[in-house]
Amino acid sequence: MHDISYRPLIEDMTWSYSRITCFEDCPYKWFLKYIKEYNEAPRFYSTYGAFMHKIIEGFYRGELKQEEMVTKFLFDFQKEVRGDRPQESTVNKYIQAGVSYLQQFKPFPYNMVDVEKKVDFTIDGIPFKGFIDYLGEKDGELYIVDNKSRNLQPRRKSGKKTAKDIELDNMLRQLYLYAAAVKQEYGKFPKALCFNCFRSGVFIEEPFSLDAYTESVSWAKGLVESIMDEEDFSPNIEYFGCYYICGVSEECCYWNTR
Ligand code: SF4
Repeated sequence: MHDISYRPLIEDMTWSYSRITCFEDCPYKWFLKYIKEYNEAPRFYSTYGAFMHKIIEGFYRGELKQEEMVTKFLFDFQKEVRGDRPQESTVNKYIQAGVSYLQQFKPFPYNMVDVEKKVDFTIDGIPFKGFIDYLGEKDGELYIVDNKSRNLQPRRKSGKKTAKDIELDNMLRQLYLYAAAVKQEYGKFPKALCFNCFRSGVFIEEPFSLDAYTESVSWAKGLVESIMDEEDFSPNIEYFGCYYICGVSEECCYWNTR
């Protein structure tokens, strides 16, 4: 597709979990976002997630009382959750899930160290940055918590891995990258990596594993190398992803001429 190499540009980049997973989703989306630098248009699912993050963050920053969270959610939903709506029943399900989570909201079982903590770190010399939704402490140990819209499930204790276990492993890679940041700042790895799945109310506390950490680091390095070598940036056209998730679809010649 392109005759020139973007490698010099790519070599100067600071990486993040979303910057590498964007390439896994669709190399052309990565090209539009990070080479052409198009701004992303708001989309329903991503703005819903960002809105819930904002409310939870507001509580931990002391800007919102627990009893104000539902009101804030309902008052601001139309303004904050933008982009084409999926069918009405889906929108209603998302509203219900938000209300139900916030009505039964329980603070995380840790002492707060920081919220929306900006981290700059390196992985084998590769610069990364990110935001840890919540960093907690209990009995001298650190805990990373990530707020997730996705309905993850706790790992099955025994037997063959299920599709949900594999999904959890994949999502944990983000938190293992943040574990590298925690190690660099605090001198030790976190005790556990947690997902607060706010649509289902499920809280998952996954003990830190050095093997999973090593796998995640090598996955991230491998993807950064692949992106540096990439020349084609092929599209991955798939209706739901292109229409509801991709924030640069307006700029995509493949999607707009399909
Ligand atoms: S619209 Fe689809 S094919 Fe085009 S960049 Fe976005 S995800 Fe890729």
